[in-house]
Amino acid sequence: MARFENILDTIGDTPLVKLQKLAPAGVNVYVKVEAFNPMGSVKDRMAKALIEKAESTGALKPGQTVVEATSGNTGIALAMVCAQKGYPLVVTMAENFSIERRKLLRFLGAKVVLTPAAEKGTGMLAKAEELARAHGYYLCRQFENEANTDIHTQTTAQEIIADFADDQLHYWVSGFGTGGTLKGVARGLKAADLGTKIVVAEPDNSPILSSGIEQPRDDDGMPNASHPHFRPHLMQGWSPDFISHLTEEAMKEGLIDEIEPVDGNTALQLSRDLARKEGIFVGISSGATLCAALAVAKRSPQGTNIVCMLPDTGERYLSTLLFDGISEDMGLEELEISQSTPGFQFSIPGDPVVNNAPATSVAEKIDEEKPVKESIAKDNVALDKTAESLVESLIKTNPIAMFALEWCEFCWSVRKLFKALNVPFESVDLDSVAYQENNRGGEIRQVLSHRLGVPTIPQIFIGGRHIGGGMDLFDIYEDGSLLAALTELGIDYDQSMKINPSDLLPQWLHPRKSA
Ligand code: PMP
Repeated sequence: MARFENILDTIGDTPLVKLQKLAPAGVNVYVKVEAFNPMGSVKDRMAKALIEKAESTGALKPGQTVVEATSGNTGIALAMVCAQKGYPLVVTMAENFSIERRKLLRFLGAKVVLTPAAEKGTGMLAKAEELARAHGYYLCRQFENEANTDIHTQTTAQEIIADFADDQLHYWVSGFGTGGTLKGVARGLKAADLGTKIVVAEPDNSPILSSGIEQPRDDDGMPNASHPHFRPHLMQGWSPDFISHLTEEAMKEGLIDEIEPVDGNTALQLSRDLARKEGIFVGISSGATLCAALAVAKRSPQGTNIVCMLPDTGERYLSTLLFDGISEDMGLEELEISQSTPGFQFSIPGDPVVNNAPATSVAEKIDEEKPVKESIAKDNVALDKTAESLVESLIKTNPIAMFALEWCEFCWSVRKLFKALNVPFESVDLDSVAYQENNRGGEIRQVLSHRLGVPTIPQIFIGGRHIGGGMDLFDIYEDGSLLAALTELGIDYDQSMKINPSDLLPQWLHPRKSA
């Protein structure tokens, strides 16, 4: 260990750690734990590089405000760098990214400007550009900035090469957001000519790279629309709704050897497994990258060496699906432990459910936000016959059927209600891999929007009857008619459950007032 002149000098030189339990026997999977960076993510490397490049070229003047569109880690890293160097920072961020990220940014002195979730990644980018133009802020442009690539070639790749100085590295596995890590490390490894294969992971329901379809761009090369194969997914920081310039270059330069699809549930499970079985506390994209690395490991011979990037810390995901089911209160086993000795117990075990009144704007918010606004079926649209009969039979054969999107948070809230009531339900996830072939999910959505006259998802049917969306379901839960309908249909439910539906809604809906 050295003495460091300032916090920025501690960035990089992250450890490679061998997995002891999660990798198949005989295959060596090493994870590069970027959570060791001072602000807990791989983006610390880039933030320092971008700002120092802009300082050296004169693009950034002393005291000038810096602005960037970021899902969080870049912003948090920039906030540290700007705090240390004395630049004001404005971050634009879609409102559906985790709350802890906003708070961290503000704690570090940055200003956070939220943009509507429905506008996705392109919306937050456009806002950052607008602010830069209007106020003369310095815009970092992480998706195009070569400093983002160079720093990974100069540091991350060299660290890996040095760690394998006397051993062969067969595979390096990473996801992509900006593509900086991907392009920079892959370029460094290819230049070193070690024979390392580059494997890129992407969400299986959002195959923008593996689709082979080019990103729509303006004349000046900037993405001007969502990629047609983009679907919402839960790997924050991964695969935005467009293929960035840096990622596209990595493809065109032939740096990518394989693309590995990753299933969201396995990604979540592996993030949890890393914590519980290896003691490595990291975020969702880390579990997702490991999912791809383990797929490679399973088909590789004994003695194969694989390096898997783990981009950030798990602490950034307390309010997300990663922590779904992790309770604040004592569970049964914990109460048993508590009661196994006489002292220091609560007279009434457990806390009553806190009944937060729902924020008044929640219903309006959902109407505005429901993710899918694109495709209201027109009367003259030709509906797919197979999709029509599929919808018919799903509604008829399942006492409770919901048409959903796999990672839509409102759909998640609805599933949580059904699970809490312990009732069987069929979730037809229209953007999941199961419904991707021949655009089956899209066809079903057209049938639904034509039939119901609304384009939004989720749509719920109980006993063949259309209930409406998530808020409609919550309303009939609260007025008792949902439970009455279940009784009438002979569906048993857990009568002991007292649920406050607003507790099931995405957390980012609530703090809006204080955001
Ligand atoms: N995982 C997380 C959690 C991230 O924040 C990012 C950065 N957006 C990435 C992965 C991808 O890194 P890169 O931008 O270098 O492609």
